[in-house]
Amino acid sequence: MASIDNLHNRLRSGDLVIIDGGTGTEIPRRGVPLCPDTWSGRANLTHPDVIRQIHEDYIRVGAEVIITNTFWTSRKGLEKGNLDSKTSEINRKAVKLAIEARQNVKADKDIFIAGSMSTFFPMSDPNVIPSYEEALANYREQAQILAEAGIDFFILEMFIRTLDARAAANAASELGLPIWVGYSITESADGDLCLGLRQDKHGNETIKEAVEAVENIDGVAAFCIMHSDMKHTQAGLTILRNETSIPIGAYAHSIEPSKDPNDEWETVVESSLDEYCNYAHGWILAGANIIGGCCGVTPDHIQELSKNLT
Ligand SMILES: [Zn+2]
Repeated sequence: MASIDNLHNRLRSGDLVIIDGGTGTEIPRRGVPLCPDTWSGRANLTHPDVIRQIHEDYIRVGAEVIITNTFWTSRKGLEKGNLDSKTSEINRKAVKLAIEARQNVKADKDIFIAGSMSTFFPMSDPNVIPSYEEALANYREQAQILAEAGIDFFILEMFIRTLDARAAANAASELGLPIWVGYSITESADGDLCLGLRQDKHGNETIKEAVEAVENIDGVAAFCIMHSDMKHTQAGLTILRNETSIPIGAYAHSIEPSKDPNDEWETVVESSLDEYCNYAHGWILAGANIIGGCCGVTPDHIQELSKNLT
């Protein structure tokens, strides 16, 4: 039986742990359209074989952690696509597919399943800020479904505000599983790094504030800089390393804003394997020992990391 405590003991002793790459961006790359209103979650029901295969591919190339395809599958995340009535079904199916992938691949090491929850309904309008209570209720429901379905720990992804990061971490904490907290960073107007995405979807909160918002919540076991530009990630990690003593990690993306002004989606620009690996070396130098990839990062990239970094 895989022990999540063992994984965290290894991280605290400095072992490098490779996690998976992008899942949402692998879906269209494999010919399956994303839902225009809710992104990747619908595919758990419509194309389960593709999702399971993505997880299996990441395990085969050396990922020790696979992340469920539940990025925007909280009730609020699914609302815009009228899929909110399927909140339970979509989240349960996602965990089942990850568990099946782990069973199908006879890996020579323990594989852990991280249940993803992300920032508050950004597909509707990322500038709408929820109340803490509204965010907490939203995450409580998703966290409970993910925990009951059998995840090993929670991974909070693409948080750009401390308000909903705190709500998600508190909701996850009630389930008694470890929590990795992932923030997206970008450049503020004055050139400093702050929480946020490109296109000004942020409130200029600092990495220090991001750590302080959740570090004392029971279960918080790691911080990641993720879904952020490769070139900002090392500097972000250096700040993060100074603000916390718990393990830190990085999984950057390889995307740019769409050239179509009517398209709020971003376009994948695949980096070369060498380029991604070189950036990852820098992240390790900055103190990270959880390394993987986000949007636009493929199983080939993760294989390259496994071969060159471990
Ligand atoms: Zn991403």
